[in-house]
Amino acid sequence: MHRILALLAVFTFAYRAFGGNAVNPDAIELAPLPMPVEFKSDMDSPVPFDRDTVVTLECPDEAAAAWLSAHFAEWYGEDAPKVRGAVATSATLPDGDEAYSIVADANGVKIAARSLAGVRWAAYSIRQLAIAKRGTFNTKGRILPTFTISDAPHLAFRCVHLCWFPEVRKEQIERAIRLAAMLKFNYAILEPWGMYASERHPWWSWPEATMTKAEVRRLAAIGKDLGITLIPQIAAFGHAGQGRSITVKHSVLDLKPEFEPLFEPGGWNWCLTNPETQRVMRELIVEMLEDFGNPPYIHLGCDEAQPPTCPECRKRPYGELVCDHIAGLAVFIKEHGARAMMWHDMLLDKDDGRWKGFVAFGSKATATLADTLPKDVVICDWQYSYGDMKEVRKDWPTIGYFKEKGFPVCGAPWRNYNSMGPMAEYVSRVGGFGLLLTTWNHLRGGDWRDMYVYGAGAAWGTPPVRKAPMYDTSFALALRFVGHDMHVTDKRDTGIYDFEVPLGWWPPW
Ligand SMILES: [Zn+2]
Repeated sequence: MHRILALLAVFTFAYRAFGGNAVNPDAIELAPLPMPVEFKSDMDSPVPFDRDTVVTLECPDEAAAAWLSAHFAEWYGEDAPKVRGAVATSATLPDGDEAYSIVADANGVKIAARSLAGVRWAAYSIRQLAIAKRGTFNTKGRILPTFTISDAPHLAFRCVHLCWFPEVRKEQIERAIRLAAMLKFNYAILEPWGMYASERHPWWSWPEATMTKAEVRRLAAIGKDLGITLIPQIAAFGHAGQGRSITVKHSVLDLKPEFEPLFEPGGWNWCLTNPETQRVMRELIVEMLEDFGNPPYIHLGCDEAQPPTCPECRKRPYGELVCDHIAGLAVFIKEHGARAMMWHDMLLDKDDGRWKGFVAFGSKATATLADTLPKDVVICDWQYSYGDMKEVRKDWPTIGYFKEKGFPVCGAPWRNYNSMGPMAEYVSRVGGFGLLLTTWNHLRGGDWRDMYVYGAGAAWGTPPVRKAPMYDTSFALALRFVGHDMHVTDKRDTGIYDFEVPLGWWPPW
């Protein structure tokens, strides 16, 4: 609680500074996303940030100075400031491996951090505050406001969940990964939706799948450099056709009916008692873990599953059948150096009065999983709505329930923006695992912007940079840097919509 009070004090101070100056009380002070825990800035006293600037870096990780130099060179070319590394740190940093501090004034720029991760977050804050020197036709060096930042994340696991739908271009996935890193998320889950081009099991995807081995490896390498670890997902139970229920599409059975035995009738679930299903799934898991560069986690989905239909699966008690399946996969995954994650809903009984009004459930049978599953499976508790997606609740009893059962638990919000901060606060309060920001079919437009801005703020324990037009300015700057880093040339790879107005607005009649 004292952290909240401290934040309020800081923001009271910081926001006053954003009210402009004596001449221009309406003027705007730039702010990086997410809003740092402590941030004081004065754009009325800009300082140079160009090739003559020395950035002193105090960080015990000797690789950090080289990383910072390389990225300044990438971002600023011949105007890049110089980096002078120093191992000892004299700055007072907040707690945590990822903490960082920055002082920018007439003497230069000084960064302190305990790790390369902290240096990255510092660099992204600086990047969002640096603007071109004024008064010239084209950029001749940059300036920064005089500012100080002292910052550390509220939660150690800060993840975005990205859906590689057939309609989502790979460029949009890359933009979403890069922007998540810029906003200081450190993990991104990629769910394939029929788009992972497995070499071992090419029948698993839609034709011409764009999530190729080469593309996944390229993105994983980019993520590693930027400080965001990519995590694969496989729908290991329900959603077996890698489609949304609303579309009734199936990435396998619609075009390749010969694989029917691998699935329950209708195809929504895998047939868990079929040993061939178990073999295929393990081979896919191994292939994906390799392509993703052996990440520490893999997400197994397991949301919205249905009870068994086929005669073999009907022979086994439902809870036991599912537990054996997930526990078996979790052990297998652990043998391959990673940990399983899964959605939470099957672990709640819809008839349990404690969860009245919550969004998704399993049955009495599947709720036994909360007692029987291995306790190192990360439970991702997706909570989107208590009525209108806007409710702000302080307590999240299902998150507390999984924590009490001994699981690492993530809060997983979606478009319920106002609940993201309180959810992250609750996760932190109960010693939960982290925040998993889902985006689903809303990775575009204002929803994309708001999910990222509010989610990043929640994960760092600060309010979103909400005051317009500062909000839009900060987001536009961050997103535009992503485009520059990708060297985009297609207008669709800019902004938050593909087109300025919807195509087909002027039909020929
Ligand atoms: Zn079956």
